[in-house]
Amino acid sequence: MVHNFNAGPSVLPKEVFEEASQSILNFNNSGLSILEIGHRTPPFENVMNEARELVKELMNLDNDHEVLFLHGGATTQFMQIPMNLLTENGIAAYTETGTWAGKAIKEAKLFGHVEIAGSSKEDNYTSIPNKLSVIPTAVYLHITSNETIAGTQWHNIPYDCGVPLIADMSSDILSRRLDFNKFDLIYAGAQKNMGAAGVNLVVINKNILGKVERAIPSMLDYRNHIKEESMLNTPPVFAVYVAMLTLRWLKKMGGLAKIEQLNEEKASLFYSTLDSLPIFKGPVAKEDRSKMNAVFVMDNPELEKEFLESCKKENMIGVKGHRSVGGFRVSMYNALTVESVKAITDLMKHFAQTKS
Ligand SMILES: *Cc1c(COP(=O)(O)O)cnc(C)c1O
Repeated sequence: MVHNFNAGPSVLPKEVFEEASQSILNFNNSGLSILEIGHRTPPFENVMNEARELVKELMNLDNDHEVLFLHGGATTQFMQIPMNLLTENGIAAYTETGTWAGKAIKEAKLFGHVEIAGSSKEDNYTSIPNKLSVIPTAVYLHITSNETIAGTQWHNIPYDCGVPLIADMSSDILSRRLDFNKFDLIYAGAQKNMGAAGVNLVVINKNILGKVERAIPSMLDYRNHIKEESMLNTPPVFAVYVAMLTLRWLKKMGGLAKIEQLNEEKASLFYSTLDSLPIFKGPVAKEDRSKMNAVFVMDNPELEKEFLESCKKENMIGVKGHRSVGGFRVSMYNALTVESVKAITDLMKHFAQTKS
């Protein structure tokens, strides 16, 4: 058995792989592969509609919020958001919490004025700013709900920031219950928690659109995608299909209440083990630790190498930390089982024992 702790693309439910591979050979007993059907045919329209409906249901969205499946990953959203929303003389407020927030800020600056509403740069992104100062006239506030590389997560969402709230949820989308209607825009690349690479989810309150004067290329104008129901051009058919299967799985599991409980169980097992073993160190402030991506290190680089070797021997994949942070990172996305977390925590305990 392989334990997949990859940060993204990452583990998906086994039944999703089984059904997706079957559909490559014979989709819905049509005799055709999912890869060779037209996107404007009822069988695929059903897939797209079901995916959108499942997102609405799982996130409990009201009718102002539209669900889109777009191309270009979360990275395209870094520029698409300010292009559509940052008015010519307006100010966008951003929180600066790590690599991903930094990339979003860089792109926003191409379109207008950016103010930093809160930053954890001073402590090397090992925490989430606990006080924000948001300019009341800002056209929106952007947060990165989970910093995949730094291993931090917003546990107190600034719902009452007084301006439209936007979140990059790429690495914790659908992992916990939140008041999703209080966000005006939510986006996420699918490949971490809800499917295969190639598609990203955008949930948008349609009332915030139409306020900028600049010309927006057709493919980048959210209003066109809303109007065409995510079929402005050929959508990434297979990626949307895999997302739909993953959403179905999530609903069958018991939805966000259940997955949140499982994610808490996994994170609590992992971090309590980490804290009980002095050989391992967690750089992130305890109250800001991510339940999705646990980042940890050792003081001794030789021992780090040795631990990675042990992981490899036990078929534990993706434990090496991001190159910018070093050490280790264990990603515990929705589809990762409690057994996998048990396996790596057992290995950590065993490793610590043999070194003491
Ligand atoms: C992975 C990731 C991205 C980039 O996603 P792409 O789909 O590769 O563009 C953006 N933000 C966060 C928080 C991520 O984890």
